[in-house]
Amino acid sequence: MFDPADVAAMDRALVLAAAAGRSGDVPVGAVVTDAAGTAIGGGRNLRELQHDPTAHAEVVALRAAAAALGSWNLEGCTLVVTLEPCVMCAGAVLQSRVSRLVFGAWDAKAGAAGSVYDVVRDRRLPHRAEVVAGVREAEASALLRAFFDARR
Ligand SMILES: [Zn+2]
Repeated sequence: MFDPADVAAMDRALVLAAAAGRSGDVPVGAVVTDAAGTAIGGGRNLRELQHDPTAHAEVVALRAAAAALGSWNLEGCTLVVTLEPCVMCAGAVLQSRVSRLVFGAWDAKAGAAGSVYDVVRDRRLPHRAEVVAGVREAEASALLRAFFDARR
């Protein structure tokens, strides 16, 4: 079964995702935890709210965690996100050196951690991250589905 610390962090990420949905952004949330499992940064998708094409939840959370630590290097940390990262965010996972990536729902259209691409485990690149998929998958998927259904 899943690590309880990962599940707890995912529950926090789901709260952030719901907040993103309420402000008109696709509901995706992310939390960075340190090696002890303590949350050191969180973020939600802010693309619409901030008119920022790069303000995906993962990037926002990685920036918050790096600011909290006073270092860009997040080795030993885990990025927990409700949706499988896109290519940009998978790149950010590698740039931040987080050791683990935990995500909820798969993104069959644009996922870059095992679906369309597997950037975070590509042996041609100098860094890789361990991947745990499917934590609170049903809840993460339901949030996204409800958001898109309401927009139709
Ligand atoms: Zn992304």
